[in-house]
Amino acid sequence: MTIRVLVNGAQGRMGQIAIQAISQQADFSLVGQTGRQDNLAHAIKQYHAQVVVDFTQPDAALQNTRTILDCGANPVIGTTGLLPEQIHTLQQHSKALRRGGIIAPNFSIAAVLMIKYAREIAHYYPHVEIIEMHHDGKLDSPSGTALYTAEQLATNLSAECLSTSKARETIPGARGASHHHVPIHAVRLPGLVAHQQIIFGGQGETLTLRHDAIDRQCFMGGIVLACRKVQGLTELVYGLECIMNKL
Ligand code: NAP
Repeated sequence: MTIRVLVNGAQGRMGQIAIQAISQQADFSLVGQTGRQDNLAHAIKQYHAQVVVDFTQPDAALQNTRTILDCGANPVIGTTGLLPEQIHTLQQHSKALRRGGIIAPNFSIAAVLMIKYAREIAHYYPHVEIIEMHHDGKLDSPSGTALYTAEQLATNLSAECLSTSKARETIPGARGASHHHVPIHAVRLPGLVAHQQIIFGGQGETLTLRHDAIDRQCFMGGIVLACRKVQGLTELVYGLECIMNKL
């Protein structure tokens, strides 16, 4: 039986290659491609979509996820910029409907592994900062991946380690943003795709984990996996690792 998939944000950079990846899977049927001009609820019902992949923009992600759940489909949300309290609200809504979904700030399996190992390293090296670098068309800063990384690191950092440098900022912002007390520095430049470094500092040494998405194809394995698994979920999970067996 094929899984009926609709892609929302179909004309965008991620939407376009998600469509290619979905079209190549024998067990998927790409039933719809929607954008800003379309009525998402109407399209889901019209095409009997079972799974909706959303790569739109931060302002739209909350309502789109709600719409997908309300229309009886399972959301696969790649759009970043959702705030933690918005994710929590959506999770409550999904629970009430008993309909699962996934929100993943990063569908690259390598990026997920980077975060997993960073969490482990944080036990031993609690002084840590994040530098994320993206193309200049990215609307949200810091990236969803950086926010998620900081949240994951914070679970393994003790309270006394969470206060960072006391150095005065000569220019406000020089020390970056702070999420869960982890400094995040965001770079936006043409020529970049999506890159992140997690730098741990110790006595006389540093340890850097780095992930470079040099082609958006790197997200496709995770998207296809999510489309295959999402119908089996009974809640809205946050993070690709929730559906990766070996993590
Ligand atoms: P993009 O090229 O700007 O594409 C976004 C598309 O969504 C555009 O076609 C846009 O139409 C459309 N859109 C905007 N608002 C909409 C709405 N309310 N309903 C339906 N369509 C709407 O952006 P992108 O580079 O593909 O990135 C999309 C999102 O994915 C971003 O949040 C980005 O951070 C995220 N992302 C996630 C991952 C991951 O692994 N999770 C990886 C890469 C990117 P208009 O052109 O008319 O505005």
